[in-house]
Amino acid sequence: MPKHTFIRPFINRLQAYSVGFLHLFYPHICIHCGSEELQAENILCIACEKNLPYTHFFSIEKNTIEKIFWGRVPLHEAGASLFFTKDSIVQSLVFALKYKNQKKAGRLLGNIIGRDMLHSQRFKNIDCMIPIPLSKKKQRARGYNQALVICEGIQEKLPHIQILPLLLKHKNAISQTSKDRIQRTQLSPQSYAIIDRSQIAEKNVLVVDDVITTGATIESFCKYILNEARPHSISVVAAAYTI
Ligand SMILES: [Zn+2]
Repeated sequence: MPKHTFIRPFINRLQAYSVGFLHLFYPHICIHCGSEELQAENILCIACEKNLPYTHFFSIEKNTIEKIFWGRVPLHEAGASLFFTKDSIVQSLVFALKYKNQKKAGRLLGNIIGRDMLHSQRFKNIDCMIPIPLSKKKQRARGYNQALVICEGIQEKLPHIQILPLLLKHKNAISQTSKDRIQRTQLSPQSYAIIDRSQIAEKNVLVVDDVITTGATIESFCKYILNEARPHSISVVAAAYTI
């Protein structure tokens, strides 16, 4: 009998032990419900993935997201893929992305947006996407911009769309959540720094964010891009919309 016939069961058992051992310290469970019913690379279990609350906004003209920005900033198209509610699967995904260093959650959200864009006829001409910049302080604390991770997830579905990450000039410039909307929109536009205007000029630009609530940050950012870089058009997508 060949030697490996004896060794194989031993190796298999060792592998099983090491997986069990790792599982003890790094349990591979659904980030929302804690179920172990999920595939190796996934962060949501099959049931939670099935229950994601899709908006189906992307194919609808004059959808809820577009209406939010009517009279505020001229957007070409806009959409958000999921509904955001308290204690929901979507909240768990966004929380994991923003506060638990789980970039997989951002890529999944980006994949969902990318799929929505692919199935819609309305986002066909996008040339480049810009993640909403994070304040320097937040970026330092988090180590990454969650909107950029979402862009990477979109790019996995739409590889031809270039990502252009912009920086902020001043620290904490868009982290003014305690101030009212009008004050915030007045404060923000001087705070962004475009690296290269020629990359945006005459292009169909897509601005990407994680969650849309009032739309104030997106509004001021889009106004800035429109004024400073003169794109051909500007559109907005987000992973979720707060209802
Ligand atoms: Zn689950």
